[in-house]
Amino acid sequence: MANAVVLTRPAPSEGAPHSVGMSILLTVPMALWSLLMFSRTLRVPSVAVKVAGIAAFVFMLALFFLMVRTGRTNQWRRIFFVTLGVLFPIGFITDLISLRGSMSISLERMMAGDTPFCFLAIPMMLIPAALTRTLVFPGSILPTESNPHSVAMMVALWLCATLVLGKAWCSFGCFFGGIEEGFALIPKRARLRKIHPRWRLVPWAVLGSVMLLAAATFEPVYCSWLCPFKAVTEFAEIRTVQNVLQTIVFASLFVGLVVVLPLLTRKRTQCAFFCPFGAFQSLSNKLTVFEVRIDRDECTDCGACQRDCSIMAIDKASVQKGKVLLSCMKCGACVDRCPKKAAVWHIRGTPLRASPEIARMLFLYPAWGFAVMFGGSIIAGGLSKVLFFLG
Ligand code: SF4
Ligand code: SF4
Repeated sequence: MANAVVLTRPAPSEGAPHSVGMSILLTVPMALWSLLMFSRTLRVPSVAVKVAGIAAFVFMLALFFLMVRTGRTNQWRRIFFVTLGVLFPIGFITDLISLRGSMSISLERMMAGDTPFCFLAIPMMLIPAALTRTLVFPGSILPTESNPHSVAMMVALWLCATLVLGKAWCSFGCFFGGIEEGFALIPKRARLRKIHPRWRLVPWAVLGSVMLLAAATFEPVYCSWLCPFKAVTEFAEIRTVQNVLQTIVFASLFVGLVVVLPLLTRKRTQCAFFCPFGAFQSLSNKLTVFEVRIDRDECTDCGACQRDCSIMAIDKASVQKGKVLLSCMKCGACVDRCPKKAAVWHIRGTPLRASPEIARMLFLYPAWGFAVMFGGSIIAGGLSKVLFFLG
């Protein structure tokens, strides 16, 4: 297997580009934004919600400060991301059970739009919406009291984040990705060390298939048959043989791609080798000005960045071209890891070595601002449920 990537345990790199005073100053804009985002939790009468909101505010701001102070991105991002992955299902499942008494939903209620919109359905909606102005996902267009996450709101949020951040959505916003990143970080060493690069093509095949099938059937095919995350969100009531089969597929994909393979490989295997939304988001990396590049003058071809990339978005050939692959989700792991500081943050149209730290900061403001707005509220929500259970 000549092209296979060998996976081993990472080693740390250095970097502390800002003094404490400058780091505080650079954190002030994020503090103001976070105050705005978390202030609504203080208006809720519940003490648990207030405490959770304050804790989430401090947590997010502390991580941002540490990113600025240390010059390292992924080390702190992944603490947020895994926390998001843990608290999302706790908050979501608790809400479902208190609303409906169960994680399952009847087909009638689903078709009536009584289900929150999920961004994973966006690629499937495009062809039917463009051709016939039909939404194949049965969510409500506008927010309602029982369903604040409407289709319009989620699509607008996705569009803004995508245009600015590209595929960074997958490392700063996707709570599903946080679940598998958590499992991938548990083992100290990868047991499965060789993964053939051809597996990276599978998400594109899944994407093409579900988009065409959704256009042919006007059904959100991925949601009905292939979503591994039904296991931790909501699923159709089991009434028929078809429902039984669907549930077996959901549970198998979750166990295989989100739990077992990340434990064996230390990679985000669902994101890297299956997720059609991730493949679709890769295209948005062509739109954004922020990117990660390799400075060939500094690079020694040591391969450390390839070993640390959790979705295999960098390989020997791309390093030699000074680029990462289209699937890069801008997590910053390769930049943090590079012992020669050859992997750098970059803004398209500027000289490669002009100011990597300025490029990183200009990326971090919208990326972390998005994380606070989208993930911060989920963390506060999940934490409030935990506090409520603890009494
Ligand atoms: S190439 Fe670098 S920044 Fe991109 S996903 Fe891989 S480790 Fe993260
Ligand atoms: S970019 Fe850095 S980590 Fe990657 S191969 Fe070059 S020197 Fe090694």
